[in-house]
Amino acid sequence: MKSDIGAYFSVVDGDVCMLKSWQVVGAGSHTGDIMDAKEMLVLPSRDEMLRATMSRDAAYNGVFFAAVATTRIFCRPTCPARKPNPENISFFPSVRDCLFGGYRPCKRCKPLATNGYTPDWLEGLLAEVERAPAARISDQDLREMEISPHQARRYFSTQFGMTFQAYHRARRLGLALESLRKGKDSLMVGLEHGFESQSGFRDAFEKTFGVPPGKARDVECLTTTSIETPIGPLVACATDEALCFMQFAERRGFTRQLELTRRRLGVSVVPGTNQLLNDLAKQMGEYFRKERREFDVPLHYPGSDFQVSVWDALRRIKIGQTRSYDEMATAIGRPGAWRAVGRANGDNPITIIVPCHRVVRSDGSLGGYGAWVWRKNYLLDLEQAKAGSKGSQAALFP
Ligand SMILES: [Zn+2]
Repeated sequence: MKSDIGAYFSVVDGDVCMLKSWQVVGAGSHTGDIMDAKEMLVLPSRDEMLRATMSRDAAYNGVFFAAVATTRIFCRPTCPARKPNPENISFFPSVRDCLFGGYRPCKRCKPLATNGYTPDWLEGLLAEVERAPAARISDQDLREMEISPHQARRYFSTQFGMTFQAYHRARRLGLALESLRKGKDSLMVGLEHGFESQSGFRDAFEKTFGVPPGKARDVECLTTTSIETPIGPLVACATDEALCFMQFAERRGFTRQLELTRRRLGVSVVPGTNQLLNDLAKQMGEYFRKERREFDVPLHYPGSDFQVSVWDALRRIKIGQTRSYDEMATAIGRPGAWRAVGRANGDNPITIIVPCHRVVRSDGSLGGYGAWVWRKNYLLDLEQAKAGSKGSQAALFP
């Protein structure tokens, strides 16, 4: 199981309202093998999914989507619409897979609108983690709490990019880091956080934070949060001073991009939140409600001189406008370099605020987008629409 390679994530603050916060940890030369959430998605058996679909079992919302061959529509398990013939149903683990399969979202159950979705079992489970952070919670323990291990795996992998067990271990190490910073003795801290030996604790700590427990005060962190949007969760990483990374969790190459940012900055990444991320979440909410046209969050995006010149130029494209790749090349004084501009565009570490979605092909067609063209289309529509109007998104989001 990939979750056994070590915890690169830990939650620093125990507050339940920070459930959606996590940080990826990794410093120095060790590579933070940030897990690819997709690899952890395992579907329940077809029989189980059919039963859940037919009985509209809400416990399976978010675990899978049901796509119907005859109508080419995909739904949540709880969709109130009349259920199709079982032989016409295919099951997919993510919205992305459904879209790739050529299905469109159902207008009744709105499978893309995940905003605010929190399963009711989550609070109890996290309370249990907080009650006994040093304990181990197995799949069997989960079943005894009436939580299906599938649900837990699915939820944690899409929201946090890790399995529940990895989350739990990360939480344990994050708490240990806090204790060490308060000056507690490292032998005691290891024992209190469920490590049976001092060397085991030292290894796990060093693997996660890049330094031994004795140097806990030197650990520099990039704080990471997940922000819900109508088109899927965004993962944002920031220092106390600036936002350094923001991407849709399911974009192509997400893991590689986050790892690149982490290495460029030479810091660890751990779950949590800070004032800047709170402000960001508020501003993203306003943007998606069409109440905000510009952001005032400070940004920091190290890259090559060429990349940074492209990213700076992107920020000068006003909301409601678009540019072609060619126009971008000219704007940065490199006429003809549209191909390299396209690549730098794709490597943009801060989606939406550095608006790479505003660059389109010279014939007016949308061109590519790392987080899938339907999102680019959605964002451009959102930005064209006047505040309060529905705009043409109505086609996708009735
Ligand atoms: Zn539906």
